Amino acid sequence: MTAALAASPHVMNTYARLPIALSHGRGCRVWDVNGRSYLDALGGIAVNTLGHAHPQLVAALQDQVGKLIHTSNYYHVPDQEVLAAKLVELSGLSNVFFCSTGLEANEAALKLARKFGHDRGIDRPEIVVYERAFHGRSIATLSATGNPKVQAGFGPLVEGFIRVPQNDIEAVRKATAGNPNVVAVFFETIQGEGGVNSMRVDYLRDIRALCDERNWLLMIDEVQCGIGRTGKWFAHQWAGILPDVMPLAKGLGSGVPIGAVVAGPKAANIFKPGNHGTTFGGNPLAMRAGVETLRIMEQDGLLANAARVGAHLMAGLRRELGDLPTLREIRGQGLMIGVELTVPCGDLVKHCAEAGLLISVTADSVIRLVPPLILTEAEADEIVALLCPLIHEHFSQPALATA
Ligand SMILES: *Cc1c(COP(=O)(O)O)cnc(C)c1O
Repeated sequence: MTAALAASPHVMNTYARLPIALSHGRGCRVWDVNGRSYLDALGGIAVNTLGHAHPQLVAALQDQVGKLIHTSNYYHVPDQEVLAAKLVELSGLSNVFFCSTGLEANEAALKLARKFGHDRGIDRPEIVVYERAFHGRSIATLSATGNPKVQAGFGPLVEGFIRVPQNDIEAVRKATAGNPNVVAVFFETIQGEGGVNSMRVDYLRDIRALCDERNWLLMIDEVQCGIGRTGKWFAHQWAGILPDVMPLAKGLGSGVPIGAVVAGPKAANIFKPGNHGTTFGGNPLAMRAGVETLRIMEQDGLLANAARVGAHLMAGLRRELGDLPTLREIRGQGLMIGVELTVPCGDLVKHCAEAGLLISVTADSVIRLVPPLILTEAEADEIVALLCPLIHEHFSQPALATA
């Protein structure tokens, strides 16, 4: 990095930004305005599925921009049906609502759950949510989020949430015992912001069975772990279950803002005209990005690539960090990997950027790698070679670590 960039005087100060301004990219690499290159192991936070400037996506988007960017949901948008049919095929569910971001997809899911309750005569519906969950930053989704830092300063929170720990089916039974107002259970298959924490396969099956037994909606937030990242289209598919409601966003448009709520038969007909909507949702540009992203993923076998290169990356990390005194755990699946240390390591982001590697640290002490799904084994080796020495250098001492 050259001289630090002055903070933007006019952009609202919502991010502690690195002093880097990026100008262009290609594949898994990006360049800053000074011509320095970086290997991108963050992918815009699990967004850039196809990396940067993928030639086929660029061509499709250029073609679309020259035709229509936006119309309105007052009219049919033909690619909405194309993308919805594809998501239905891949998920085994039945209908899709389109929006533009993850929080909007989750907001729609929460509204579906409440209306599901009201339609059954439940006036004060309640939804089971999880510790360390992250569902977005709108007032409702930050209330569903299990992180006091996200909620601080924004009370009063939305009511109607019951919070439980991950992977403890008895805790759900206990927290909901005798409560006739519960309408849904809502979680991420693998928590992203919360620190790459997975739901166990047996838990996913148990919670599906419990939802069936109680007639609750099973709502699975696949905004970060979905769209091929774990080696299946959706992470819950490793358990062989179907959700009733599945919010998507991040990777679906490979960088173009897009969100979607995919619903199964139990939730597909809850919304009627007038119940929900959004101006930008489902616009022709976003739909083209979604259709093209999924097409290229299939064409290039990116699910298999995510599984294979993810396993290779994980093996490299285990090899190089096995003797690290501050290592708590290396976990995740496919190209969604978390390395948890016993010490806070937020400054690693800066050290890595100086060495030409983009990563993130979440939940204070979890190094998160969510690179584009086109990552090669050679690039995975490069991530390991850049990252691991910096961890050893700066964060290997439990007592002396300076975060
Ligand atoms: C990022 C994220 C969201 C919020 O998405 P936005 O597009 O930032 O609103 C919601 N849920 C999960 C699991 C996420 O990772």
